Amino acid sequence: CGIVGYVGKRNSQNILIDGLKKLEYRGYDSAGVAVYTKDGLQIKKSKGRLANLESKLDEAPLEGNIGIGHTRWATHGKPSDVNSHPHTDNSSKFSVVHNGIIENYMQLKEELTAKGHVFVSETDTEVISHLIASLYEGDIVKAVQKAVTRMRGAFALGVLTEYEPEKLVAVRLSSPLIIGVGEGENFIGSDIPAILEYTRNVYILNDGEMALLTKDDVTLMTLEGNFISRELFHVDWDI
Ligand code: GLU
Repeated sequence: CGIVGYVGKRNSQNILIDGLKKLEYRGYDSAGVAVYTKDGLQIKKSKGRLANLESKLDEAPLEGNIGIGHTRWATHGKPSDVNSHPHTDNSSKFSVVHNGIIENYMQLKEELTAKGHVFVSETDTEVISHLIASLYEGDIVKAVQKAVTRMRGAFALGVLTEYEPEKLVAVRLSSPLIIGVGEGENFIGSDIPAILEYTRNVYILNDGEMALLTKDDVTLMTLEGNFISRELFHVDWDI
């Protein structure tokens, strides 16, 4: 129900948690984060309040400058630790957060299972991480674009891969997503309040658009890969 993402120079964990707190008003039943650390992509997630996730992170903090976070409002699969986002694939090299619904997830799940993928959750979202992993040939943007052509439904996505640990990919199709542009750091969020503490310069993604974020750049494109140029929107209100 809420997505945040960070790539920059700072430690991402607390920025993600702050952002998720700002999105609590949307409602949620579980929460989680994925951070690229010196040990690769690490995921921490928990059913229930953000405080549950925070106590897991207090015990074993995740250190790294790129990460994604999620608050879930379950549509497919009960609220539980394993059904919480981020989701990954069998290689654990990809992490995905998702708002919305993948209508054809059963068909995709069957196809991927036939190819040897093993699923651990009951969610529609888990097919996305497996699908991206199965289509990956060295370019995460292309893999996400290919995956999206197979997915029916409504979705906003944040995607990370260990293979290209400086990149954060964001997608919007019928679920809201905005990009926050900082100096040497960039953000994604379901809504402006999630990032307003850090920047007032925003790109609003439209349906059918995606973005590639690194710490120094934001590239906007259509899901077909055509580049988009857009004026930054300056937020002049406070929460
Ligand atoms: N359909 C997904 C799930 O049930 C995402 C729900 C959401 O938007 O939070 O896990």
